[in-house]
Amino acid sequence: MSERNFYNIEGRVLSTPNKAVDPETKAAEETMVANFMRELAAAGKDSIPGELFKTDGEKLMIRHFNEDIKAEALAAGVTNLRPPVPIKKIHFALPGGYQKQFPDSKEKIKGHHALFSDAIFIKKNKEIPPLSIAHITLHEMIHAFSATRYDFDSQGRVYAVKGGYNSTLIKNNSAKSAKMTEELDDSGAEIKDLFLGFNEGVTDLMAKEILEKHQAELSQDLNLNIGPGDLANLEFHNYCPWVDWIVEKVAKNNQEDKAVVWNKFKAGMLNGTIMHLRDIEKTLGPNSLRLVANIGLSKEDNLAFKELMKNYDQNK
Ligand SMILES: [Zn+2]
Repeated sequence: MSERNFYNIEGRVLSTPNKAVDPETKAAEETMVANFMRELAAAGKDSIPGELFKTDGEKLMIRHFNEDIKAEALAAGVTNLRPPVPIKKIHFALPGGYQKQFPDSKEKIKGHHALFSDAIFIKKNKEIPPLSIAHITLHEMIHAFSATRYDFDSQGRVYAVKGGYNSTLIKNNSAKSAKMTEELDDSGAEIKDLFLGFNEGVTDLMAKEILEKHQAELSQDLNLNIGPGDLANLEFHNYCPWVDWIVEKVAKNNQEDKAVVWNKFKAGMLNGTIMHLRDIEKTLGPNSLRLVANIGLSKEDNLAFKELMKNYDQNK
């Protein structure tokens, strides 16, 4: 597994099996990788059913979110951040149109970033508060900035993808499997997924941090009057407090500032470094990293992690 060819293109990592490295094979591989990147760049630009024009305010908001995410990344020590998603790949659409485009998507899903088109899709109508739409847009934009990796098998098919901390094994390379990399919830995934809930928690905590820091800017962009109460009313991901709990415990155990640990967690999501995850195991005990990796996969997995938190707190 470790003997692979790695290609680093525009902040995305592609890997191929490194069997024969004769020039012919190598050339074929490079063509395959280049084609994949070209298709990825071209994908996700078309409008979907129910697509809405972006308002000037929304365009400004997206521009500011790009800057805000870049600033956070830099502050966390990330120097090799991916380029932002082109604005053409960010789609606002009526919920009915979204549902038509993504029929397998659950109704409660508010938006997603698709790894196989590198595009973002957000539900929007008059009933959904603008602040909530802004939050989901920011959340998906953070996903799009996160470290991405595509692993190819010997037939040139992608069998594993990684977005931020979340890695997904694809069984049969069908479009349906590819969809599984989109937003999932407690009901669990059919295919092997790791660090799904953890990745969601880190992503949404980062979104929360940016919204709190830049609420005045966002108010201006969208011509809203956003107060702290409005932000408190937003629905952040269920796993945010869990990630926050982990950050706190690791900081205590490492005798580090919580902000230092939080920066490492953010940086890892954005640049793909995972060495610091060992600190979780060191802090929470043997086998705990596996429980963290399984957060969000099933009710049982979530219960197991809740039990770990309870036990840890009781024994300290
Ligand atoms: Zn998400």
